[in-house]
Amino acid sequence: MSHRHLICGACGQKNRVDMDRPAAEARCGKCHAPLFSSHPIEVDEAGFERHVAATDGPVLVDVWAPWCGPCRVMGPMFERAAAELEPGVRLLKLNADTAPNVSARYGIRGIPALLLVQDGQLIGQSAGVMDTARIVAWVRDRVPTMA
Ligand code: ZN
Repeated sequence: MSHRHLICGACGQKNRVDMDRPAAEARCGKCHAPLFSSHPIEVDEAGFERHVAATDGPVLVDVWAPWCGPCRVMGPMFERAAAELEPGVRLLKLNADTAPNVSARYGIRGIPALLLVQDGQLIGQSAGVMDTARIVAWVRDRVPTMA
């Protein structure tokens, strides 16, 4: 049996998921929300840190802001990428206005920006708008286990 640790997008509880069972049936042990919703999870800086620290496997983060036009263009494409990349990848949306420490740590100068983090290590970073197909291909290029 293989297990993965994940944070629930609804309540923030850390869960241990049996990956031999269908991901669509995985529910949070605390609040019973589905653990894979095919939607990115909106997080603040604390939520980002919590997910990155606790998640087994890659975490893909869309760093965006409500006032950023290109970010709003990429938003729906990132949503669709979630449906394609789950359950192998955890997708988060982080509002840059609420995340000065994350922006400084990764040297983010422009948004939208994507961060791909696995086991606490940055394994990919990109700036600018990508469509769904490019987002998915970009992640698969960097996560050999998904090829
Ligand atoms: Zn929960």
